[in-house]
Amino acid sequence: MDTVIVLFTRDLRVRDHPALTAACARGGHVVPLFVLDPKVPAGRRAGFLTDCLADLRASLRARAGDLLVRRGDTVAETMRLAAEVGASEVYASADVSALARGRERRLAGERIGLRLFPGLTIVPPRELLPSGGGDHYRVFTPYWRAWAAHPRRPVLPAPSRVPLPPGLEHGLEHGLEHGLEHGLEPGDLPGHAPHPALRGGEPAARARLELWRREGLDGYADGHDDLAGDRTSRLSPYLRFGCLSPLEAACVAPVEHPFVRQLCWRDFFHQVTLAFPAICRRDYRPRPRRWRDDAEAVSAWKAGMTGIPIVDAGMRQLLAEGWMHNRARMIVADYLVNHLGVDWRVGAAHFFDLLLDGDVADNGGNWQWIAGTGNSPRPGRVLNPLRQARRFDPVSGYIHRYVPELSGLVPAEAREPWRIGGVRGYPAPLTALE
Ligand code: FAD
Repeated sequence: MDTVIVLFTRDLRVRDHPALTAACARGGHVVPLFVLDPKVPAGRRAGFLTDCLADLRASLRARAGDLLVRRGDTVAETMRLAAEVGASEVYASADVSALARGRERRLAGERIGLRLFPGLTIVPPRELLPSGGGDHYRVFTPYWRAWAAHPRRPVLPAPSRVPLPPGLEHGLEHGLEHGLEHGLEPGDLPGHAPHPALRGGEPAARARLELWRREGLDGYADGHDDLAGDRTSRLSPYLRFGCLSPLEAACVAPVEHPFVRQLCWRDFFHQVTLAFPAICRRDYRPRPRRWRDDAEAVSAWKAGMTGIPIVDAGMRQLLAEGWMHNRARMIVADYLVNHLGVDWRVGAAHFFDLLLDGDVADNGGNWQWIAGTGNSPRPGRVLNPLRQARRFDPVSGYIHRYVPELSGLVPAEAREPWRIGGVRGYPAPLTALE
């Protein structure tokens, strides 16, 4: 019987997985594979990834399948496995980053068939192109209009059986534990503790989605910018690893709902990245700008010790949780780039290292937006962190939560402690603000 390898990357689920469904529908054997590739360091995401892989393996085993985990170069390992099992084709989810596209090109050049499927975004980037020409949408609003009107494929159920070839059911050469032992150590980013427990995997993602649908969705439109209210879905790490299909997430609300619009931002930056794969490295829209090289300021920013409480609260949330509220991300990014004058790439790299949802397209796209080098129709806009704090953290609940040195202060003092002569143990502001 014919054998197909399903190469999992950041689509770690069995439900609504077009490549897996198509492989199972062929009627031959299916070998699910994940490769721990040193070119894709997991950093602080290692623990979350371990959960995702363990759950995926359990789901596949429950369907008479299994997950082979290997370590090394993805293409070399895929081809090695193909030779071992006599596979004729590789099925995978089409991706957008430079690294992923390079992998796809290399696989396409091997002596094996490669079929790429949708699944990483709601609308596949190649399916939606501007009517006036061009290889991608540069501005969000027209993209949003076209995206909202675009027909979506149906959500796919998980396959009931994933038929492994005989002889592979037992004695997998490299187990998950082996791969993790030799490839990814939780906390392998020097100087930082691993993330506190946020369980990865498809069951956890589905539980989070269900809870969010029941308890969070209604308050989202009015509350998503409220820093202390913390009313966003927190689905981003699950979407990052594909434990949850973005298409399925979008089905919880009508297309015009602000939550679905946020999911559209994710698709938007993915189609930008497909057209401009250097999104994390090079200015999308170059602007003449001289960046400051200020190692001390960067260290203070990273440590949440800039002396600007709303900025420090955000940076400390990132350190503690591996996640940061979107409004806080905007404030801290804007502060680094537009107030400290530091190159956006410095901030993007730090975010990418620490965020559980750290993702090339979303991270690069958002940092460039803030820096005025990306897709913003109003580049050059600068946020005032004090005004942002007054508006989005009016009773300083967010500051009090993450900056304990200021917890005894009334809201206005906690936002601007220098006005009361400062607080012992908390730094003076790096920059003067009005
Ligand atoms: P919700 O508000 O519940 O939104 C639902 C989903 O929509 C999110 O999970 C996410 O997938 C998507 N989404 C929401 N806002 C955006 C946005 N601005 N751009 C793209 N997608 C969005 N998001 C990442 O997933 N990975 C990153 O590496 C990342 N880096 C960022 C860097 C900066 C400087 C900024 C300003 C934003 C960044 N974002 C990133 C976008 C956004 O902050 C997070 O997606 C969001 O905070 C995740 O929380 P949530 O799941 O509760 O979001």
